[in-house]
Amino acid sequence: ATPMALMVGTARAAKDGILISGPEVLEQTKKIDTIVLDKTGTVTTGKMSVSDYTDDEVLRLAGAVEHASEHPIAVAIAKAAQTVSAENGAGDLPEVADFSNRPGEGVVGTVEGKTVEVGRLTDASRAEGMEAATVVEVRVDGQYAGIVAVADTVKETSARAIEHFKAQGLTPVLLTGDSTRVADAVAAEVGIDEVIAEVRPEDKLAVIEKLQGEGKTVAMVGDGVNDAAALAQSDLGIAMGTGTDVAIAASDMTLVRGDLLVAVDAIDLSRRTLRNIK
Ligand code: ADP
Ligand code: MG
Repeated sequence: ATPMALMVGTARAAKDGILISGPEVLEQTKKIDTIVLDKTGTVTTGKMSVSDYTDDEVLRLAGAVEHASEHPIAVAIAKAAQTVSAENGAGDLPEVADFSNRPGEGVVGTVEGKTVEVGRLTDASRAEGMEAATVVEVRVDGQYAGIVAVADTVKETSARAIEHFKAQGLTPVLLTGDSTRVADAVAAEVGIDEVIAEVRPEDKLAVIEKLQGEGKTVAMVGDGVNDAAALAQSDLGIAMGTGTDVAIAASDMTLVRGDLLVAVDAIDLSRRTLRNIK
């Protein structure tokens, strides 16, 4: 395509809410055959809410530590803990000291002299009967204390977008750090057949490299800090405009509204731009 045509395409995209980092990006979409989708915040809203928990004390301690984190799971737990604490007349959440965030893993801090950890389950059977909720474990001074379950919802447009991706000849793949149980439930709900779950943030990049090593040309859509390296490695990195600045900076394209249907438009538009002007 001529530089002029690519510039026209870029301007058209901007009108549709697709921000492109440079005109050459449109040509990158031409050979894409695989579209990797992050789960939380991309296929789902990422607006999580607490759906179940062991008891008020477990929630209060978990909330005190999560208060220091911006992860969607953390925001939900801190909010519920504040609400329950206020209802119980316990007032504000206690302060956390020595806070540390372990990406893709959880958080840890000192609350009222106790070491409180919130993170991945060490025993998957604790999530039995929780359906598609993400279940995290709370440990106090190294001992299992209970669980908190957070429910997320699939975005209204995700299933339709995935149908379109398939019609465009792309194979959708769901990629997440969350459990296989939750990932499979979300994939089934939106019509994705390939699931890669329980992937640590630093390994998301390796998943993209592996797919490329198999000869695939990969687009990836993500929103999180955890997705940045994988987005940069992808042949076409697409960030949700509702996501983190790090994900946006690592990407070739940003979807202003954070809606997968716009990614469908972006692929359509670039293919049309390239066809028209050869
Ligand atoms: P995703 O790939 O879906 O965006 P992450 O890589 O951010 O998910 O997190 C993977 C898993 O690590 C979560 O499902 C959860 O079990 C655990 N986790 C991550 N951050 C937190 C946190 N702040 N509190 C509790 N658990 C967490
Ligand atoms: Mg995410």
